[in-house]
Amino acid sequence: MLPYLRCLVSFVALLLATGVAVADRPAPDRCPTLDASSPQQRASLMEHVCYLSAPPGEPAHEARTPDELPADAGWQSANGHDLVFSHTDAVYWVRLNVRNSGDTRQLWYLKLNYPLLDEVTFWHSGNDGAAAITTGDQSPFMSRGIDYRYFLLPVTLGGNESQTITLRIHSSGALNVPLSLETPEAAIAQSNHLTLLHGLFYGALLVFAAFNLLLFFSSGTAYYFYNAFYMASLGLFLFAMGGFANQYFWPDSTGFANTSIPLLMAVSSLAMTLFGRSFLEIPPDSRADAVLRGLTVTSLGLLALAFLLPYNKSIVLITSVALVIIGSLFVIGLIRWRQGYMPAKWYVMAWSGMLVGAFVYALAAFGYLADFLAREIFMQVAVGAQVILLNYAMVQRWRLLNQKLLDVEQNARTNLELKVHERTAQLRNTMRELERANRQLATLSLNDALTGLHNRRHLDNLLPELCAESRRSGQPLTIALLDADHFKAVNDDWGHDFGDQCLQHIADILRRHVKRPRDVAIRFGGEEFAILLPGTGAAGARRLCEQILEDLASTRLTTINGETVSLTMSAGTATLAPGEDEKELFRRADEALYTAKAAGRNRVDQSEPELS
Ligand code: GH3
Ligand code: MG
Ligand code: MG
Repeated sequence: MLPYLRCLVSFVALLLATGVAVADRPAPDRCPTLDASSPQQRASLMEHVCYLSAPPGEPAHEARTPDELPADAGWQSANGHDLVFSHTDAVYWVRLNVRNSGDTRQLWYLKLNYPLLDEVTFWHSGNDGAAAITTGDQSPFMSRGIDYRYFLLPVTLGGNESQTITLRIHSSGALNVPLSLETPEAAIAQSNHLTLLHGLFYGALLVFAAFNLLLFFSSGTAYYFYNAFYMASLGLFLFAMGGFANQYFWPDSTGFANTSIPLLMAVSSLAMTLFGRSFLEIPPDSRADAVLRGLTVTSLGLLALAFLLPYNKSIVLITSVALVIIGSLFVIGLIRWRQGYMPAKWYVMAWSGMLVGAFVYALAAFGYLADFLAREIFMQVAVGAQVILLNYAMVQRWRLLNQKLLDVEQNARTNLELKVHERTAQLRNTMRELERANRQLATLSLNDALTGLHNRRHLDNLLPELCAESRRSGQPLTIALLDADHFKAVNDDWGHDFGDQCLQHIADILRRHVKRPRDVAIRFGGEEFAILLPGTGAAGARRLCEQILEDLASTRLTTINGETVSLTMSAGTATLAPGEDEKELFRRADEALYTAKAAGRNRVDQSEPELS
């Protein structure tokens, strides 16, 4: 973590010292020699570095080797500051005199911590003459000699040997020349630490992107795709900015090394616009939607411009537009948050980091920041935090969606329950009504409409049951059949209505006399009645019938003519005999009735069981 801290501290220091422009410093004439074997002197390398700025037209601009430089070239001291220049056409010459004060031959590395320079040529002159290494973005990657994303120049000095190291630098982008002189051990250790951190950063980004892509494939939700697209393009952009893309992806495409930076920035702009639009659920046809659509088209245009414009123009243009896009997304995020769309809160927080990161990047791109490593780490921290927050925002969005679904489900369930309740109540009501209707129907079907007594059907149902019961229990069962005497004449003399009244009157008398709970009175034919008497023997039945006949004969009824008449009935009874069935029993009662009729009517006859 130490290199990180160191870089962050130096980065903050740089931010505080904004506008530090080394070019304006008064220059001492000489470049003091650095003792490479002294760690203190190595740490204050820039105190020993001189530089020469050569705008086009000057002899130093045209010079191809240090020997061609004019003798009176105005070398300036870097005065302890990193060399940082915004976009410039000038050629910069940098010079460092080093000496090994020790006795043994030793190796150091002069490290140029900025991977994006177009042309860098190193010379080191010493006892064994001058040897040049020409490298930079515009040469194949392996021209660097060492497979490393930064420029590394091995400096080997024998005991007490001195050398002059000269660099000629030209670049169409920002011209940053952060230098350090390190022992191989320190260079390897730092490279190791950074490799681990970069691996973690890019690995995490890759995993997030892959995860979002898988989510997209499985759910079909577009913003997962845009999120993956955004993280992949941003990661690739930082990868290119860090010099890794040049090292691993296109080591031999010298032209593409420059184009890739604005191109990937345009791709990132497109990705962040699409992602923002889908993540923030911008209502279609809103003003924000129109702005974002405009920015999408602009980003597509930038993609084309990255190929068409020269690097120094396209990088400035695209950086400016990217800043506008980032700013717009920030504002739109704020608006959505204010509109109550909660995931926008996390989006805005994530985007704040992006704003700062973009600002820092812009400072660097335009040449106001030198410490490339510090800036890179700051960007990675900003982007890392942003990615985590964005993914958290996505989880929030998912939760919101899930909550909505749960609410809908809950509502549906409640509605369904209510409906089921309602329907059940309706059904219960209907069933109650049906039951009542059924009971009514049953009563109707078993009762006689005119008199309200039970009817023939009831007799047919009940008699076999009573017979069976009597046989089982040994209790007697008697049936009495009663028939109104000369009823035809009643109808004929006083009309059918009066006849009906008489039948109702007979029914009333039967109801009055048939009182025991289990006794049943029935009208089973026109003027024919039956009484079922379970538990009553022949004598009891005869007594009951005689009382009925007496009651009827003694009641006088008034006809429509005002005359008073009385009716009589004849009765025949039969008591169930062993081995007898209901038909037999009925037949015997009917015979007894016939006998009573034949014997003069208004009397009761009882059937004696036949002896078989
Ligand atoms: P008997 O003494 O031999 O029984 O003579 P009866 O006239 O009563 O016998 P019959 O079987 O010849 O006549 C029965 C009469 O009962 C015929 C019919 O007019 C009358 N009757 C049957 N059902 C009803 C009814 O529901 N209402 C009225 N008003 N009369 C009925
Ligand atoms: Mg009759
Ligand atoms: Mg009759």
